[in-house]
Amino acid sequence: MDQIAVLLAPGHVPDELGGSYEDACAALDLPPVPGGYALYLLDQMNQRQTVISADTTAVRQAELAYGSGGDGYLGNARVAAAGIADVRSGWPEEFGGGPRCQFCRDPYPVWVYEGGDVEVLLGEPVLGFRGEPHPVTGSDVVGCIDWYACGACHDLIEAADLAGWRGLLERYGDPDVPMPVQSAWREFWANHRPPGPAAPPEWTPGRRRRMAYEIAAQWDAFIAVHPVDDIPFTDDLDVPALAGVDAALDAARAYLQQPPPAGRVRVYPAGGDAAIVRADGDGWSLVGRTGSVSFMLLDTDPNILHAIGWRASPSLLDGLSGLAPSL
Ligand SMILES: [Zn+2]
Repeated sequence: MDQIAVLLAPGHVPDELGGSYEDACAALDLPPVPGGYALYLLDQMNQRQTVISADTTAVRQAELAYGSGGDGYLGNARVAAAGIADVRSGWPEEFGGGPRCQFCRDPYPVWVYEGGDVEVLLGEPVLGFRGEPHPVTGSDVVGCIDWYACGACHDLIEAADLAGWRGLLERYGDPDVPMPVQSAWREFWANHRPPGPAAPPEWTPGRRRRMAYEIAAQWDAFIAVHPVDDIPFTDDLDVPALAGVDAALDAARAYLQQPPPAGRVRVYPAGGDAAIVRADGDGWSLVGRTGSVSFMLLDTDPNILHAIGWRASPSLLDGLSGLAPSL
């Protein structure tokens, strides 16, 4: 079982979530208590769960032991039984919620195989701590469970030969694929229907924040595959003006006059004097590199990156970069 433990507390908001502590709590539908929360993101064989605990002792201690005091990812912190405030199915979208490849756990499956009706065992929530009992309370036909596959696993499935099967086992990421998983895969292997392309995930504020996080974290790689010379900029004369972008830029510029709550602007060093700047607002996220381009993401324009050129961006990003300490 994989696990990510995250400390969400005043002054300690993970980059995936972005924004202030109050913003992050609102995004997760949690009351902003002074002591903060520990989020345990559990990735088990057949499901992902988020355990939210008001007892942050374990993650704070793990962070101290970890030593860097930095990234807040504390995979070894055990879920404390005390203090659990909520147990939710799935992960927050900011942390990669949504289906994964069910063969290798790739977070971006591109194929889906329509599944048949399945009966599943129902039980008490599984929290993942050592010695935990797993009481079964019954079973239910839950309808159809589809199978998601990444491109590589899809190719092995479609090869439909012994080498493909072995390749699938190797891609699982663990030398010992549990027998229940192998059993489920064999059933799928024998009976699956033809696949279709997986639909892109629904665009939500969480998706928008996740995309802003990924662009900021992988700026150079992102620009390498999205050459700026090929991008139509919103301030190019032949690109129609978009009121949503203008309004979001105005909201970002307003931060220069009235600094937002801590966390809404994040600055990351990008070599020399340059910085990657990310700013989040209500319904928008702006991410860019000082002296270069930036991109606006809007809740009103799903899956669209609005490129902001030099005429609007440099002074704005330079100004925003002065509002937050460089991380
Ligand atoms: Zn895969």
